[in-house]
Amino acid sequence: MGAGLIRAGVAALAVALVIGVAPAQASLMGAAQPTRAAVALAAEGDYSSFFGDDALRGSGWAACPEPVTWSVDMGRLSPAAAKREMARLRTALGLWSRYSGVPLEFTGRQPLVYDNTSYQLRAADNSAPRTRHIYIGFYGGKEVSGLSGNVVGLARPTSMLAREVVSGMAVFRRGYVLREQSEEPRHLTNLYLHELGHIFGLGHATSPTNVMYPTLGTMTDLGPGDRAGARDYTQECTSQPECLAALVTA
Ligand SMILES: [Zn+2]
Repeated sequence: MGAGLIRAGVAALAVALVIGVAPAQASLMGAAQPTRAAVALAAEGDYSSFFGDDALRGSGWAACPEPVTWSVDMGRLSPAAAKREMARLRTALGLWSRYSGVPLEFTGRQPLVYDNTSYQLRAADNSAPRTRHIYIGFYGGKEVSGLSGNVVGLARPTSMLAREVVSGMAVFRRGYVLREQSEEPRHLTNLYLHELGHIFGLGHATSPTNVMYPTLGTMTDLGPGDRAGARDYTQECTSQPECLAALVTA
């Protein structure tokens, strides 16, 4: 199944989440007050696509009955920290699943290695990359070159079958996770929601009322734009075997 997957095009897209304080929302005082309905509509439209270029436009995961699976490498976390972060990841993935309609299933912990050349996570045992699968891991800045400065998480879709996303990955900086557990744990849920949103095809939002806003806040649920984007970028389930047959003969 590896042949034909568009890896290079997706690998070129790198996304970072910046630690910082969200600017206060602009005051509406003095301007014409928009109606409540207009505000709600504008909020729902506040999302963007991860897939900006024509070749990838309209791409997304397929909402097939068979779940997308995910595995995680928590080998750098203590058992207690791993248990906490697992619960947060389950919550974050559950929300994206709920609003996108893509069922998700955890398949277990798994040692993974981040490849700083291809910007991908792969199984440490060199087993073949899984499809309809998301790899997640927690690492130090030295292990993942992109997790430096104020970047604490990186995520993206990693392979496509035609315009169907069939794999994704997210990495989080271990030191930041451990620190925020005591300083502001809501940052962690917000961080996971944000990075997983990239895997679900969303780019950045313009309003801090959405988790896809590029500065980390304390949101623990998806905002209106995030939810609309999750719906918009999910594809109907089409017959996978037909897609595969087309690829083989292409
Ligand atoms: Zn981002």
